[in-house]
Amino acid sequence: MAEEFRLIDRYFKPLSVGLPSGDIGIGDDGAVLSVPAGHQLVVVTDTLVSGVHFPVDAQPSDIAWKALAVNLSDLAAMAAKPAFFSLALTLPHNDAAWLEAFAQGLQAISREYAIPLIGGDTTKGPLTITVTAHGWVEQGKALQRNGAQIGDVICVSGCLGDAGLGLKHALNQLNETEQARLTPGQWQSVLQVLHRPLPQLALGAALAGKANAGIDISDGLLADLGHILESSGAHAQAELGAELYLSELPLSQAMQAWFAEHVSWHLPLAAGDDYQLCLTLSEAAYAELKAQFPDNLYGIGRITSAAGIQFWDKPAARGGRQMTPLEVLGAAYCHANGYQHF
Ligand code: ADP
Ligand code: MG
Repeated sequence: MAEEFRLIDRYFKPLSVGLPSGDIGIGDDGAVLSVPAGHQLVVVTDTLVSGVHFPVDAQPSDIAWKALAVNLSDLAAMAAKPAFFSLALTLPHNDAAWLEAFAQGLQAISREYAIPLIGGDTTKGPLTITVTAHGWVEQGKALQRNGAQIGDVICVSGCLGDAGLGLKHALNQLNETEQARLTPGQWQSVLQVLHRPLPQLALGAALAGKANAGIDISDGLLADLGHILESSGAHAQAELGAELYLSELPLSQAMQAWFAEHVSWHLPLAAGDDYQLCLTLSEAAYAELKAQFPDNLYGIGRITSAAGIQFWDKPAARGGRQMTPLEVLGAAYCHANGYQHF
């Protein structure tokens, strides 16, 4: 239908800029793209469904930002540099104001990370956004989940738990006393993390050939570190586990304010949606990368040969004490999820 083409021309064609000459973006039956010599193509896809992955009343510009950001986070976790993306958009109706705001959010993130839109599909139906992002990585240097080694430093790229706290606020799950723990500015900052996550692309690109294992934290640190342990253990045909030092976890000002009266570590350890990276690095790689990214890399634990994840209040060398999952996460979380993960 002519209306569909007008919509694509108006809202999406302006995002199809910056392709190398000779490549073809939006406007034909397919995009035509070249892979730089000596590189491999990394392809990732994530779908966001209204009411499942974002609240039905979420801002269209935030939905667009997040739809691309979660894909770029997957590219970062593979140590790939972003190249271009496509968009499959299913819309309940042709709402100009909604599309305007959606395209504006998409343009903001596409410019921020210099990643052009190269095509897609537009259909009618319940609001669903699928982004496929493509990146480059030098031949043989893609970062996988399965390379963790005993003795590796476990790192995260930044603060954890903010998105989870923002979600509680967005879903009105907090009573007045809980609301009062954070200032309005702090609530604003955790909502920003929830709605506009920042994919860790600069760090990600520096990891190629350096990190032993990596994953982006979409489902919470414990779950995603669990994937590294499982996949690396299967690869090495050995039992792998982890020690985590709670004193070393980076926490935002907002999370520290929340913690002042709340002792369960559930939010930073188990809440999802922060889109930081979790990495395992040799001592040497950690020292090198920490010097390069002092505010973007935090050693929080070690890979061990004992199965499961063990919690310490701080490293044993500094007089640390081991803590039980019950102490760390609280009864409600442990009973709902069982102890089997730990
Ligand atoms: P066809 O009928 O050949 O499948 P479409 O009508 O689906 O073509 O799309 C026409 C052009 O617009 C194609 O280049 C396609 O990649 C692009 N396109 C369609 N929908 C989108 C979208 N949501 N975002 C970006 N490009 C799109
Ligand atoms: Mg089509």
